[in-house]
Amino acid sequence: MKKQFAIIGLGRFGSSICKELYHMGHEVFAIDTDPKKLEAVSEFADHTFEGDGTDENLLQNVGIRNFDHVIVAIGDDIQASILTTLHIKDHEVPNIWVKAQNDYHHKVLEKIGADRIFHPEKEMGSRIAAYLTSDTVLDYIDLSADYSIIEMLATSKIAGKSLVDLDSRRRYGCTIIAIKEQGKVNVTPDPEKPVEKDNVLIMIGDKRDLRRFRDAEL
Ligand code: ADP
Repeated sequence: MKKQFAIIGLGRFGSSICKELYHMGHEVFAIDTDPKKLEAVSEFADHTFEGDGTDENLLQNVGIRNFDHVIVAIGDDIQASILTTLHIKDHEVPNIWVKAQNDYHHKVLEKIGADRIFHPEKEMGSRIAAYLTSDTVLDYIDLSADYSIIEMLATSKIAGKSLVDLDSRRRYGCTIIAIKEQGKVNVTPDPEKPVEKDNVLIMIGDKRDLRRFRDAEL
C-alpha cells in the first residue's frame, strides 16, 4: 500500500532513505534548508520544499499532520533535530522516526516520544565489524539487544547434515527459519535434506546461542 512519507534533512542518510522509499512506490516529500540538497533528490521525491524543520509555521503550512511517517534525518545539529521532533509530535503524526547522533541525543528523543530511533553509522559499524571478524556471517538484523536474525554460510564442515541431524533448537536454542540456495530463499526447508556447502542458513535466536552454533557447526 502506498504510504506518505515526509523526510526532513536530505544528507547522506535522508537522501538514501528518500530514494529507497520512492523506488518502493511510496509518496515522498523532502524538506531541507539547503536547496542544493533538494536539487540532488528532486528525481526521487514527489515534492521538495525549502525550509527549516524547527519552524512551527512551516510544519503547519506543509500539513505535516497528514503524513503517515515523518523521518527526521537532520545531521549534526542535535538541537534542531530535537526541536523538529518536538514540533512534529505536537502535530500527532503516527510514526516519527529520527536519526540520532549519540546516546544523549537518543535519550532525549526517546523521552519526547520518537517512535523509532536510528544510529546508522553505529549500526553500519557493527555490521561491518561482524563481516570482518567472521568468514561465515553474511548479514544480520538485530531484533533487540539479545536477539538477532543472522545469515550464515554453510561450510564443508556442516555439509551433509540435515536440519534433523543439527537439531539446533534443542542443542543450541536457536532456529533455522529458512535456507537460501543459489539466491532462492526456501522458508519451508525439508528437515531431512542434507545442507550443502555454500547454502545460506537464515537463523533466529539469542546472539550467544547463534555464536555457539557457528563455532561448533561451521
Ligand atoms: P548525514 O550524516 O545524513 O549526511 P548531514 O549532516 O550531512 O547528515 O545532513 C543533514 C541534512 O539536514 C543537511 O542536508 C542539512 O541541510 C539538513 N538540515 C540541517 N538542519 C536542518 C533544519 N533545521 N531543517 C531542515 N533541514 C536541515
